[in-house]
Amino acid sequence: MYVIFVFFSMRKLLLCCGLFVATQTHAQLTSSEEKLIAYVNAHLDPALQLLTNSVNSNSGTLNIEGVKKVGALYAADLQKLGFAIEWVNEPDSLHRAGHLVATHIGKKGKKLFLIGHLDTVFEPDMPAGPYTVLNDSTATGQGVNDMKGGDVVMITALQALNATGQLKDMNVIAYFTGDEERSGTPHQLARRDFIARAKTCDIALGFESAGGLDHVVAARRGASSWVVDITATSGHSAMIFSDKYGDGAIYEAARILNTFREQLSSEQYLTFNPGLIVGGSEISVDPQGAHGSASGKSNIISPAAKVSELRRSVVPSSSSFATFA
Ligand SMILES: [Zn+2]
Repeated sequence: MYVIFVFFSMRKLLLCCGLFVATQTHAQLTSSEEKLIAYVNAHLDPALQLLTNSVNSNSGTLNIEGVKKVGALYAADLQKLGFAIEWVNEPDSLHRAGHLVATHIGKKGKKLFLIGHLDTVFEPDMPAGPYTVLNDSTATGQGVNDMKGGDVVMITALQALNATGQLKDMNVIAYFTGDEERSGTPHQLARRDFIARAKTCDIALGFESAGGLDHVVAARRGASSWVVDITATSGHSAMIFSDKYGDGAIYEAARILNTFREQLSSEQYLTFNPGLIVGGSEISVDPQGAHGSASGKSNIISPAAKVSELRRSVVPSSSSFATFA
């Protein structure tokens, strides 16, 4: 079963408000920051009400109406802060709800790109999992941590900035994708608008709690997937390594993988991991790339090999966390 324990820390509201103005960890709080914290402390109830409402509104990625409903909930609050609201539709062929984009144009400062998402992994036919408070700092419910909690942190931080007069000059795009958990494909279409707008900004901040509670994620590992498909001339093993027959597919797979390892294994931030390999005379791999089968004989030069990462490999990236606790 997919029962997922999720939680949400009210402390994070405080920490993330400091995010916009803190320049170093554990810095002495400025009076502007103290005002932000005071605002958040005084407005935890409406923040938690927004969280409750959004968690109790199912927005599984494929529940298009549900995703739009949660988007409308956030849009209403952001509009009150002077944000211009847009709904970016994805092409019909992608069968996704689209994305909420809220833009605030100011006269100075860096351009911020704040990232949230509206959808969850829970589709309407799954158990409801309503918002349930467990104790004074922990609650469970569909998407309460991933990532409606983060969405509410972002919105509350913006409300605090607005209430303390610090939002009016800021340039902010708050971007809430509607298909983060299960992106429409091709990704180039699903993320085209997102990437284009991100490129107009100076700083991007994700509000999903990948850094754990009490952390702000300043960067994340990127990921890509890859498959190596090899075909080779087959023949009797007595002819292997000859000019006519070559080395066969299995040796070639080994050569390629070892070259990856030799040339790239010391690359900073880069990891890559072949999770599955099959080779022989007859091979098959299921479409998910998680299972394969092969048959072959020692006296036949292997004509086919396939290598795939089981789930993810990682492209050059950086990962760091800023702590405001
Ligand atoms: Zn998420």
